[in-house]
Amino acid sequence: MNRPASNIRRALSDATQRLGDRVDAEVLLAYALDKPRSWLIAHADDLLPLDYAAAYALLIEQREAGEPIAYITGRRGFWSLDLEVTPATLIPRPETELLVELALERLPTDRACRVLDLGTGSGAIALAIARERPASKIVATDASIDALEVAQRNARRHHIGNVNFVHGEWFAPLGDSCFDIIVSNPPYIESGDPHLQQGDLRFEPMSALASGTDGLDDIRRIVRDAGLHLVPDGWLLFEHGWHQGDAARMLLRDAGFVELSTARDLEQRDRVSLGHWLVSSGCHSPRSSA
Ligand code: GLN
Repeated sequence: MNRPASNIRRALSDATQRLGDRVDAEVLLAYALDKPRSWLIAHADDLLPLDYAAAYALLIEQREAGEPIAYITGRRGFWSLDLEVTPATLIPRPETELLVELALERLPTDRACRVLDLGTGSGAIALAIARERPASKIVATDASIDALEVAQRNARRHHIGNVNFVHGEWFAPLGDSCFDIIVSNPPYIESGDPHLQQGDLRFEPMSALASGTDGLDDIRRIVRDAGLHLVPDGWLLFEHGWHQGDAARMLLRDAGFVELSTARDLEQRDRVSLGHWLVSSGCHSPRSSA
């Protein structure tokens, strides 16, 4: 393509044709130019300098090869936060904001609560809760050091100081710490699900997506051990697949949780299950243990 310098409008329509998606074409050009997307409209007749055109062409090639937009640009919005994401982290999904909403409903604004986010990835859930409940203390774990580094950079970028990032699998690094609320968006896709070989999922960390033949291996571990780290009157909330609501509530019930429910996402699919913990087990004094 040895065309003379093109203008923004022309570059966008060429890219839209190649990618089959106008939004992707705009997001990538805005990224190449380091401008907001709205700038492109106002400057449609501006010439696109050749070095920017070359940079844009490379981005389009990456996208044509299937790479997710969030990994190409290294960013994804979640809640009110613009987050760094890398291939070490899952790309935050809008439906996961439901988990944040349900946790916030159970976190009073006038009291410091202790919150645990298991498998934090980019830190999306922990940081959203931390931002909304600045007096609370959040602990966020991940088995991936690379993911934790991304999450810590996200915390620093947003000046969020009430999250403590801890390395390890699920509850392993937590000793006998106690929490008022435990949240998680664990891996929950069946390991044989053909979707894992399609679209963005091909580029995301398998350890953040798949969890055994029925997708429930990690959820089983989380539900089994959560009671050891919850104060009486505590809550466990976790995300799962649209067809896993019944299984999720069954696991919660068998582990001793009560007031079980499953909330639906904006597309009316089962997405988050939750249970109330009333037992004095590992954590004795309600909402006051260290
Ligand atoms: N919600 C993601 C998907 O189905 C999976 C994320 C996860 O396993 N936690 O694409």
